[in-house]
Amino acid sequence: MTPSCTDGVKALMGDCLFCEIAAGRKKAAIVYEDSEVVAFKDIMPQAPTHILVVPRVHVPAASDLADPAIWGKLMAVTRKLASDLGHEETGYRLVINTGPQAGQTIPHLHVHLLAGRAFRWPPG
Ligand code: AMP
Ligand code: ZN
Repeated sequence: MTPSCTDGVKALMGDCLFCEIAAGRKKAAIVYEDSEVVAFKDIMPQAPTHILVVPRVHVPAASDLADPAIWGKLMAVTRKLASDLGHEETGYRLVINTGPQAGQTIPHLHVHLLAGRAFRWPPG
C-alpha cells in the first residue's frame, strides 16, 4: 500500500513526529541525512548505540512499503552507520516493529539500529 492522501495531509499538518523531524521542524540528534533518508538518535536509548533510520516519505509501517528502492536505501544507510560506528565486528541488531502486537508506537516506518551491548534471544 502506498501512503494515502490522508497520511500526506496529516504529515503536512504536523501530526507525524518523524515527518516533523525529517523536515527539520522538530529537534532531533541527527547523525545522517540525504534526500531520501534521515537517521537520528532514539530519545530513550535501549543500548549504547540506538539510532532510528527513517524514510523522508511518510510510510506508516513496514507492511505499507512496497518500493524495493526505499527498502534498499534504508538497509544500506543502516549498515553503513553500523560500520562507521564500529559495530561490524561485534555485531548489532536491527528491529522494525510493525503494528500493535510488535509494539510499534510511532506510525512512520523506522529501523532501529541497536548496538554496543549483547542482546538476548528471543526478544520480549
Ligand atoms: P517503535 O516503538 O518501534 O514505534 O519505536 C519508536 C521509537 O521512537 C522509540 O524507541 C522511542 O523512544 C523513539 N522516539 C519517540 N519520540 C522520539 C523523538 N522525539 N526523538 C527520537 N526518538 C523518539
Ligand atoms: Zn511521517
